[in-house]
Amino acid sequence: MNKRYDLIAIGGGSGGLAATKQAAQHGARSAVIEAGRLGGACVNLGCVPKKVMWYAAGLGHGLQDAADYGFGINSNGFDWQKMKQGRDAYIQRLNRIHLDNLNKAGVDFVPGHARFVDRHTVEVNGIEYRAEHIIIATGGRPLQPRLPGTEFGITSDGFFELEQLPRKAAIVGGGYIAVEIAGILNALGCRVDMLLRGDLLLTPFDPLVRATVREQMAQDGIGIHCRFNLCTVTLGKNDNLVMVSEHGPELPGYDCLIWAIGRIPNSDRLNLEAVDLICDAGGAILTDEFQNTNIDGIYAIGDVTGKTTLTPVAIAAGRKLADRLFGGQPDSRLDYRNIPSVVFAHPPVGTVGLTEPQAREQYGERVKVYQTRFTGMYHALTRHKTKTAMKLVCVGDEEKIVGCHIVGHGADEMLQGFAVAIRMGATKADLDATVAIHPTSAEELVTLK
Ligand code: FAD
Ligand code: NDP
Repeated sequence: MNKRYDLIAIGGGSGGLAATKQAAQHGARSAVIEAGRLGGACVNLGCVPKKVMWYAAGLGHGLQDAADYGFGINSNGFDWQKMKQGRDAYIQRLNRIHLDNLNKAGVDFVPGHARFVDRHTVEVNGIEYRAEHIIIATGGRPLQPRLPGTEFGITSDGFFELEQLPRKAAIVGGGYIAVEIAGILNALGCRVDMLLRGDLLLTPFDPLVRATVREQMAQDGIGIHCRFNLCTVTLGKNDNLVMVSEHGPELPGYDCLIWAIGRIPNSDRLNLEAVDLICDAGGAILTDEFQNTNIDGIYAIGDVTGKTTLTPVAIAAGRKLADRLFGGQPDSRLDYRNIPSVVFAHPPVGTVGLTEPQAREQYGERVKVYQTRFTGMYHALTRHKTKTAMKLVCVGDEEKIVGCHIVGHGADEMLQGFAVAIRMGATKADLDATVAIHPTSAEELVTLK
């Protein structure tokens, strides 16, 4: 049996769903093939369950603060099971909504694992599907190290399956996932140690962001162990885990170990040899700026390309590609510059554009930086305090803003509007000319001296 389409997307995550629905709107006969749950990493093992838990953690902080504001709080502790059941039910609803939306859009859903047969054919469960255009949108999966005792650890996938709040967790890594999980667990009452291979948390971020996040995490009781080159994990007393570093002391007593050391693209189980498709050394599928691979008619979008691995990026790249292939828009492509992003720490980080070191490398003496650090008014009555930090990176006599970096309450919601302004070419003078909203933290961004 042989089914024919104009477009097939391999992977029913953020990118594949967006691309096929957009193509169907343009009249293309489209199908999406998904080996797991519809919605991909974002819905099932990423943004969505994480954000629900970030809210739970925020409420944990909020309960303490509420007492300082005068509320009589008698907390009966935190019911992890209740949170998990509610979260998982919410995700199941989203899975169903994604299926309904595919049906409404007229996109065929093919459950199963796809492998290439030739450049226009893939095979799923013994059935061949042909299409003029095939998009690879297979995402990525968490990396695990190869060292004795690796199997004692879980990844972010396993974190979302935990049936109870761990007592004491070790988190290896200091990127987005490590920082977010550490903040959640800490706020919910777990003791957390972060084990870094180097000296930095959130290495690619602006130094002001790195320093502020680190200070806050330390102040909130998260242990940060730098240059802890973990070489072995063993079982100690009472079946607790012991982290053994190459040169330093051992860290004992953990009932949970989480690997958060990056993700690898899902390009290795697609039988790409059948089509001679080229990946880089890390398995990311190489594409040009139009998402074309080296093979005509085969494209790649989202995490599998290794480029700015965020949900809205996969979605936007998929829609732009569908517009180009089926919407009569031959120049349609995603502009990967100035993509805003948020780290859901406590408080969150919002960042867009160049960091100060990146700008100085690119523009040298022409860079001017405006920054501030303060304690927001929310903390007027609270014992637990967080700092807000903001930085604008500007270039040239006109002081065009090329970077904006915020840590603090509301940074997650604050950034989107500033990202629009920066994308439109806003200058420092444009922000200065905007009347502030008082009293807010955001007003500091339009009054920086
Ligand atoms: P995915 O969403 O991963 O979808 C790929 C799909 O392809 C999967 O469902 C997979 O089962 C399927 N698949 C793979 N191989 C095959 C095959 N051979 N045949 C059929 N199906 C296949 N991004 C944000 O923007 N904001 C966040 O807050 C955020 N938080 C995150 C938190 C965590 C813990 C993680 C892990 C990621 C987070 N991300 C976040 C990143 C975001 O989830 C990804 O960038 C996004 O999901 C990428 O979409 P995609 O379509 O490229 O891949
Ligand atoms: P990141 O690339 O953000 O961070 C990886 C971390 O692991 C770094 O701290 C890195 O250290 C460390 N590391 C790498 N290899 C090793 C090793 N062998 N041993 C010890 N530490 C190691 O990856 P994540 O897995 O945290 O997240 C993957 C991507 O998912 C993110 O880049 C982001 O695009 C997306 N994401 C987005 C979120 C959001 O938008 N809020 C949330 C979660 C994920 P070093 O810095 O020293 O290199």
